[in-house]
Amino acid sequence: MNGMAPMLCPLPAFVFARSMRLLLGLHPQLGGSVYLCLNSLRMLKIDHFTFNPFAENTYVLSHPNGACLLLDPGCQSAQEEQALLDFFAERNLQPDAVLLTHAHLDHVFGVQFLHRQFKLPIYAHPLSKGMIERLPQICQMYGLPPAQCPMPSHWLNPEAGFDWQGEHFDLPHLPGHSPDHVALIHPDQGFAFSGDVLFRDSIGRSDLPGGNQEQLMESIGHLLNAYPDSMQVYPGHGPSTTLGRERKLNPYLSGRFS
Ligand SMILES: [Zn+2]
Ligand SMILES: [Zn+2]
Repeated sequence: MNGMAPMLCPLPAFVFARSMRLLLGLHPQLGGSVYLCLNSLRMLKIDHFTFNPFAENTYVLSHPNGACLLLDPGCQSAQEEQALLDFFAERNLQPDAVLLTHAHLDHVFGVQFLHRQFKLPIYAHPLSKGMIERLPQICQMYGLPPAQCPMPSHWLNPEAGFDWQGEHFDLPHLPGHSPDHVALIHPDQGFAFSGDVLFRDSIGRSDLPGGNQEQLMESIGHLLNAYPDSMQVYPGHGPSTTLGRERKLNPYLSGRFS
């Protein structure tokens, strides 16, 4: 659209201007900058790193005020830890809390480091407790050095959701991959952190301790029934996707929820 457009438009100029404002997502009455400014005050930003031998996605959810929430911090090597510190410094971010979608080893390797550096509150589902206590032995089962993870300071209540920096998130309990699994969902801004429940073109394993295939399918069904196809999904491994794409194309769902 260029400067010629109003001349070609059969609508009176003020109607045209109003339509353009709506088209651009601007409020028809408020000054555009005010509306955009208010809107940008609330927009959360998502960045991610892929860490550790399991290629786990660690997400950094940033509020415009500079606070950031670390989801499933999986940094394990000194290099990976430094990459996170550099990122905080470059973006002028203040780590504010850690939240675990579940306490599998690949999702918690970096919790102790972040806790030591920043004394962050740690949020997890109550069923993560036993898994965190057994973490050193579980690491040894995988042939890895025995990692430690501090006990969460706050136990999540899925029914209450999660409130952070004035934003409310849904927090559905989604067992099947692991008993303590939750997703963190911002319905207004249309994104979900799905942990290891739903991936692009795949679903989580259900053959690990506490896993259950039927529960896993129920959990995926809950996501697909409760949220729109447009919802952006950020999984614990692999690229992001949308609920609609997985409903249609995910071979493990084979049309079951379409
Ligand atoms: Zn997992
Ligand atoms: Zn994982």
